[in-house]
Amino acid sequence: MTVQPLSALDSQAGDSDPAPSGAPPDGRSGRRASSSGRVLVLNASYEPINVCTVRRATVLILKDRAEILEIGDWQLHAERFAMPRPMVIRLTTYVRVPREAHRRKITRRAVFARDRWTCQYCGTERGSLTVDHVIPRSKGGPTDWDNVVTCCAPCNRRKGDRLPRQANMIPRQPPAAPHSTIFIHVAVPVIPRSWEQYIPQAA
Ligand SMILES: [Zn+2]
Repeated sequence: MTVQPLSALDSQAGDSDPAPSGAPPDGRSGRRASSSGRVLVLNASYEPINVCTVRRATVLILKDRAEILEIGDWQLHAERFAMPRPMVIRLTTYVRVPREAHRRKITRRAVFARDRWTCQYCGTERGSLTVDHVIPRSKGGPTDWDNVVTCCAPCNRRKGDRLPRQANMIPRQPPAAPHSTIFIHVAVPVIPRSWEQYIPQAA
């Protein structure tokens, strides 16, 4: 099985290879700005591995490096060119992806996405969210998936520098490393319906 370098997926723009004839010229690939849409990228094995722009997906399709599995309800138009708006694409060759890659990177957005943008102490989904160290850093708490939770600003002030027991504030769900598809929830706040069947635990 052929293996492409993972870096082939990473460049969102500025793809230096010339586009095949008939490809939409840069910046004119659709009625909507290409950056406004996101496309779910599946490995050749159908495992979800990335989320990319419509423009990036279009390049992969035109180069025969991906096939369209799901299309949107509008088309990409350019002079002498039209194609369905891809929603889900599948790479034609298998890409080796470090399985734990998405779990290693702890970012604010990833913590919020894991916790569904909900304060893990009071349950609110409103207001400004912060990341709270369950065991405070000042007491040796690490920045690990099992020690960080989404926390609204008022709860964060209330808990302060105290331990959960001291503050009587226990996370509603014990924090843990997210599923490896967390990158999807980070990329899009609401999973499009056409993606659901390709994502484990999407419901
Ligand atoms: Zn709260």
